[in-house]
Amino acid sequence: MTPLWMENAPLPPPSEEPLPSRADVVVIGAGYTGLSAARETAAAGRSTLVLDAGGLGAGCSSRNGGQVAYSIKPTYNDLTGRFGADVAFRICREGLDAMAYLRALSTREIDCGWRQNGCFFGAHTPRHFSNMARDAERQPRGLEQSISVVPKAEQAAEIASAYYHGGCVYHDDASVDPTRLLLALWRRAIGSGATLRDHCAVTAINTVPEGFDVLTERGVVRARQVLLATNGYSGPLSPWHQRRVMPIGSYQIATEPLGVEAVRALIPRARNIVDSRRVVVYFRPSADGERIVFGGRAALAEKNPLACVPRLKRMLVQILPQLQSVRVSHAWAGWVAYTFDTLPHLGRHAGIYYCMGYCGQGVPLAPYFGKRIGQQMLGLEEGRTALDGLPFPARPYYWGKPWFLAPSVFAYRVIDAIGV
Ligand SMILES: Cc1cc2nc3c(=O)[nH]c(=O)nc-3n(C[C@H](O)[C@H](O)[C@H](O)COP(=O)(O)OP(=O)(O)OC[C@H]3O[C@@H](n4cnc5c(N)ncnc54)[C@H](O)[C@@H]3O)c2cc1C
Repeated sequence: MTPLWMENAPLPPPSEEPLPSRADVVVIGAGYTGLSAARETAAAGRSTLVLDAGGLGAGCSSRNGGQVAYSIKPTYNDLTGRFGADVAFRICREGLDAMAYLRALSTREIDCGWRQNGCFFGAHTPRHFSNMARDAERQPRGLEQSISVVPKAEQAAEIASAYYHGGCVYHDDASVDPTRLLLALWRRAIGSGATLRDHCAVTAINTVPEGFDVLTERGVVRARQVLLATNGYSGPLSPWHQRRVMPIGSYQIATEPLGVEAVRALIPRARNIVDSRRVVVYFRPSADGERIVFGGRAALAEKNPLACVPRLKRMLVQILPQLQSVRVSHAWAGWVAYTFDTLPHLGRHAGIYYCMGYCGQGVPLAPYFGKRIGQQMLGLEEGRTALDGLPFPARPYYWGKPWFLAPSVFAYRVIDAIGV
């Protein structure tokens, strides 16, 4: 149940100091979003307190796959249909800027095991391959990514599997060690003067003339500004947000150590691998190159990660039959936050700032938008984004339990199975 990355990670001990009675800024959620925002406000001299219900990075930020990709889900054409070409272009640029931001941070300022290894995007059907190849050739001007098309005949250079019908390599994609990224963002926030109190769930936020009273398990803090950075763990604390993000379980396994050579034989260029199925799977070599770390949506109803191991292992072996007899040594899960328009959202509602909804792809998006929302809290022009002011849609009859998920995932599995 412990994520591979968390084993031996030098996490800070639980904080035992009392809560301060006042802070300029209270950030709820000590993941990539909250820590990045806290760094901005603290560095600008605002007293900043970060609170988390669990330990540092108790949510997704300690337990993800560490894959870094362009992560705005809707295509430029989809977005043009919804918002017009100018807004669409600027939203897509945010996705590229998020990658560039994390790349610059990781290569110049922090050590989070950044590897510019690229990603092989495998085609699940021949039709998916021709669509991919067409899209790679017709990228919107100004939004180009470095992509090479890999026909099936050349696929062995990317993966020792006949499962895919060719694919594309995204050369700008990268991987990080998720926990090292978390620790680096934490150190930056603390180094700028922010304080963290973990194991301190916020139970209510009451508006008062000076700002807010933030009620927690360990006392009350009066804050001038509050940021909700709770993503897939957004609960009844703010029903307005809870109605706008769907918590979806995401599951991962790691194989036992196979040896660097054996892993290289399976994924010769040590790339991330994802595929074009609707119910997506993704995998990569571990940071030390010794194992395969494999993730996907394993369960219709959310389950104990251990219960998902057989299904994930079957999915892995379907792609890499060479791993049939290999043992799984780690299994873990977390809650990602989907939005109804598949876009992240940041801004302010009822005076409370928020930043969330990365639809399972927050490794580049959360540090970047976290920084932006922190800048917005300071009233800085550079905090503005193309997503500001977009409607944050809810759905009728949805109050936080995605009852429609099981039938949708089932339908997607059928579509994947028949290869449409
Ligand atoms: C298995 C898995 C694999 C993934 N793989 C990838 C990947 O390869 N690439 C990628 O881009 N993304 C991936 N993601 C998604 C990515 O990890 C997240 O989008 C990102 O970490 C979100 O960061 P965050 O800070 O917004 O939220 P989180 O890290 O989830 O933090 C939210 C925090 O809010 C806290 N909280 C909630 N309510 C309260 C409260 N009332 N009081 C106090 N604290 C509260 C929680 O305890 C939690 O720590 C994956 C996620 C999972 C689970």
